[in-house]
Amino acid sequence: MSQPEVPFFSATGAAFGVDLLACMATVVQQGRYVLGPRVQAFELAFASYLGVAHAVGVANGTDALTLSLRALGIGPGERVLTAANAGCYASTAIAQAGAEPLYVEIDPQDMNLAPAAVEQALKAGPVAAVILTHLYGQMAPVERIAAACRAACVPLIEDCAQAHGAARNGRKAGAWGALACFSFYPTKNLGALGDGGLVATADAALAERVRALRQYGWSGKYQVTLPGGINSRLDELQAALLLAKLPHLDRANAERRAIAARYQAAFADLPLRLPPSMGSDYVAHLYVVRTPRRAELQAHLARHGIASEVHYPLPEHRQPVRSERAYDLGASGQVAKTCLIEGERRGSKGDGGLSLPVTEAACAEVLSLPCCLGLTSTQTARVIDGVRAFFNRESAC
Ligand SMILES: *Cc1c(COP(=O)(O)O)cnc(C)c1O
Repeated sequence: MSQPEVPFFSATGAAFGVDLLACMATVVQQGRYVLGPRVQAFELAFASYLGVAHAVGVANGTDALTLSLRALGIGPGERVLTAANAGCYASTAIAQAGAEPLYVEIDPQDMNLAPAAVEQALKAGPVAAVILTHLYGQMAPVERIAAACRAACVPLIEDCAQAHGAARNGRKAGAWGALACFSFYPTKNLGALGDGGLVATADAALAERVRALRQYGWSGKYQVTLPGGINSRLDELQAALLLAKLPHLDRANAERRAIAARYQAAFADLPLRLPPSMGSDYVAHLYVVRTPRRAELQAHLARHGIASEVHYPLPEHRQPVRSERAYDLGASGQVAKTCLIEGERRGSKGDGGLSLPVTEAACAEVLSLPCCLGLTSTQTARVIDGVRAFFNRESAC
């Protein structure tokens, strides 16, 4: 099959016009490669960009989540509340920390954790932490969820891996939780040329713990003072590239948002569920529409040379790797009782699976259209024509 004419991701666009090779040459000449001056400079710059006191560079976004949980002292026997409609990032981190996920229902509109469901779950049973993902670049109702967490004395971890630069009332995603996690995977709104991640926090003690945990648990050379340390360092090459790109992030987000807004206007009359906001609280990491005819629409677009993706097709509690655990969750008393608040158990004869109908409907219907930096006006128009033609053909029948 030939390359789609409208790609989903453009490496050229993701460079933000920065001379990445020159950037790399400087690092090569300078001779420091891991946790050096550029990592430090990027940590300071990113903390200042967020309006948060501390930032700690790590190897990737999943480690950022894992180390946040460990810095909070969360481990075996504890439950971490999160949503089940992402790519298993939080689930992976929770498993790495040895804890258990408590999946809670999402809002059908913004597809982030539903505040009422979070409040109910926090009241119902012990929860060690909440991981709130700002999915697709759309900020969740973080004010209300942060307030619920404060009231329950439960730390909030924001997963901002899709929401670099999103802000509500001038306060950025990442400036609300006890800790906030970022990924700089190449396709993210701020991407490296490889893996990278970061933990931001206003709390100096938590920042110190993450700093130790990212390097074997060392408090200094070669004193291991914290258990649960790993090797999760950010390297100088990635930090230099990120530092050079950071001043362009707001403009890049505005460009992404402009593409999304064009779709939004063009699709207003179609039988599609569209993203809820085109404001500053949405950085258009993904432009995600919903339709029960997803497979047909995706095939139609592919025939017209338009790439699209599904983020994400399989809810996390339905992942093959989780099936046994999901059964345990359903079958055991305390946890099942809490899970029941969020949905019904599937079937009455104890097949045991947790059921999250809003989450499952979203996973069955979401489709991400090309919304990357570097997408031309002509390409955007082709996507619009492709989607409109699909529904016009439908209505003509
Ligand atoms: C990409 C992503 C992560 C994981 O980041 P990695 O750097 O790939 O480990 C975590 N959460 C969300 C929401 C993401 O999109």
